Amino acid sequence: MSLIYQILGKPFRDNALHVCLSTGSSLYRFLFDCGEAVLSGMGLSEIQENDGLFFSHFHTDHIAGMDSFIRVNYDRSHKKVKVYGPEDTLRVLGHRLQGFTWNLVQNNRCIWEVQEIQKQKIHKGLYYTSEGFSSIHDYSIFPWEKTIDSQDFFDIKAISLYHGIPSLGYLIQEKCKFNIDKEKLASLGFSHGPWLKKVKEYSNTQKEDMIKIGEREYNLKELQEFLLVPIPGESIAYLTDFLLDDNTEKNLLDFLPKGCILVCESQYSKEDKDLARKNYHLTSEDAAHIAKISEAKELILIHFSQRYQSYQIMKMLEDAMSIFPETHLPQEWISFFREC
Ligand SMILES: [Zn+2]
Repeated sequence: MSLIYQILGKPFRDNALHVCLSTGSSLYRFLFDCGEAVLSGMGLSEIQENDGLFFSHFHTDHIAGMDSFIRVNYDRSHKKVKVYGPEDTLRVLGHRLQGFTWNLVQNNRCIWEVQEIQKQKIHKGLYYTSEGFSSIHDYSIFPWEKTIDSQDFFDIKAISLYHGIPSLGYLIQEKCKFNIDKEKLASLGFSHGPWLKKVKEYSNTQKEDMIKIGEREYNLKELQEFLLVPIPGESIAYLTDFLLDDNTEKNLLDFLPKGCILVCESQYSKEDKDLARKNYHLTSEDAAHIAKISEAKELILIHFSQRYQSYQIMKMLEDAMSIFPETHLPQEWISFFREC
């Protein structure tokens, strides 16, 4: 699987994250938040092929670009439009979609699937373009712990955060892969063959748990435990607009896998920590602290307050790097901050 990401939006403006996942046979495109003008950084086909729009919350700087998303996708019929968000998502999305005049769409087959992620429950409903999005269909509620979507090669997970209002953080995590330990294989004296595939693919639910190699039979589960080495998959997390308290820190530690790429808000400098707490935001040091304790691969700082000058952003970057050296600004922003 390959994972490519892009930070959307300009410095000091609304920001968002776009992630492209290639599994070899399929390509998935996910967008995290949709503030003003963030879609101008994407190609039209990327927006039309979007496989999921994930909102952290609905303050204006995270949803102001939604009209453009609706305009591009209201009539697509080749796949559902999928939208995820925190408490109140069904109501907010319903109002957004109903805020236009819809006629000549009666024969359209486009479906919007909206999922509202609340504490331990997901409320799900469908809106139909053909009805001008006038009502919710197939409304259902089901339990949720962390995973909100699971595909063959990856999972998408969410975590409840607090921003004075419910907010969500998200994680895309490639499923664990397994390699054969060559030294252990050699120690058994077996040669390669189709039996190795059976060992790799064995699962506890399988009826047959023995395999013949040469003249002897072996237990598949025991062979699997002995020969397979887990290889952690790639992962990327999007965390923005929340208060970092002890409980949230503990939950994040449980949520974030080691080696994760962390795209994280850095709204305030360490000198304005009180303001950050008051407004339920992070400082650059908070972001670096999360990256450090979760043993992230790298930290990308986004979503800076307009109160700062460029030289102050460079100082915030230094503050974060002193805690977590692999901290970066989005590549395309570096010249902006250096030149201003
Ligand atoms: Zn906010």
